[in-house]
Amino acid sequence: MDLRIPSGKYLKTGILGRFDPELEIEYMDRKFQETRIIAILLGFASASLAVLLWSWDWAIDSASADSVLWSRMLLGAVLAVYPLSILAGAGRKFLPWIYAAAILITEGLFLYHLSLLETGLVYGIAGFMYWFILPVFLGLPYSRMTNVYCFLAVAILPNILVYAGISQSFELIKYNVLIWPTCGIGIMITFMLDQLYRRIFIYRREAEELARFDGLTGIANRRHLMETGDRLLEFCRRHERPISIILFDIDHFKQINDSHGHLVGDKVLRHIAGILQNGLRKSDFPGRYGGEEFVMILPHTTPANAWLVAEKIRRRVENTPTKITEDMVLKMTISAGVSGRYPATEHVQLEDLLKQADDALYQAKRAGRNRTEPVCCSCNKIA
Ligand code: GH3
Ligand code: MG
Ligand code: MG
Repeated sequence: MDLRIPSGKYLKTGILGRFDPELEIEYMDRKFQETRIIAILLGFASASLAVLLWSWDWAIDSASADSVLWSRMLLGAVLAVYPLSILAGAGRKFLPWIYAAAILITEGLFLYHLSLLETGLVYGIAGFMYWFILPVFLGLPYSRMTNVYCFLAVAILPNILVYAGISQSFELIKYNVLIWPTCGIGIMITFMLDQLYRRIFIYRREAEELARFDGLTGIANRRHLMETGDRLLEFCRRHERPISIILFDIDHFKQINDSHGHLVGDKVLRHIAGILQNGLRKSDFPGRYGGEEFVMILPHTTPANAWLVAEKIRRRVENTPTKITEDMVLKMTISAGVSGRYPATEHVQLEDLLKQADDALYQAKRAGRNRTEPVCCSCNKIA
């Protein structure tokens, strides 16, 4: 079976790759929605950790530990602003800035905090590594580059502060030797997580498409057709608009399978699905109802106009044979049944319309095939 997945093209994304602009927006939206809970939880966890690591202050300088508790509290409070902003529903445009500000302010504060302890600037250097672990998770909802800029700013900031005269006894050489490899690892983890998330996004999108589209013809399957049909019917009811349904069935299709085999039958099915899709109005919705039966849902269309559409398609099928090989073409015909409401009424259900279209199709078959039958008297009124 030819399983042409419409989304197969996404799989090319490399470690630095991006999707097409439209898909990239969808990806970033989804990633934001699904990872912000991680950013919230880890945001609060890191704020708590910033306070709890007062125990390290106590371990290296128990005499001054009490007097620096306030700055530990301040570190925690500033970090907590970020998860609180997400919870408060801050705009997505501002959140990366709040996130970057929270990280950079707390890093600067931490440097100052270390200078208040006896040996803080010596034993506290390893503490800066936390600022390269946190962004991996806190920055998960944003683009990879947002995180890269954040990592670089975090690595550079202590250098600027020391050159500016703050905590001058801080040993920048030791800091840089320790921190730049850590920064590199942080950036690599960010890229790898993003790549992993992109793959999950692709596979999930493909699973969704497979669940909604027919694998043989690529048009909507019965389930998707019924769900969309219900939604369109509801819309037409609410706005007192007409709605119509056309049910198509290929004439003598069994003979094609019997004389030429199923693969040729499949080719014919794809060809006819292609004709159904071509030249439609955007709002018209075609789908494979089952076997060799197709349905088209036409919102804002009176049954009389739907009859004209069905006739147009029927004639196109009649005049466009399926090319099987270079020297073999198969001429097919289809029959169609039309039903609808003008306007869509309160009580009408999709199943009723399908049943009526099926009755009309039966009449078309009985009347000799290769024709379109309307079912109800209102079908003959042109709106
Ligand atoms: P009628 O003009 O009365 O519609 O005759 P028909 O032969 O088209 O009607 P019938 O419903 O008896 O035949 C439908 C055939 O469609 C039978 C089945 O083998 C074939 N069919 C259903 N699904 C597929 C498919 O996916 N691929 C192929 N090749 N054939 C299919
Ligand atoms: Mg049939
Ligand atoms: Mg048939």
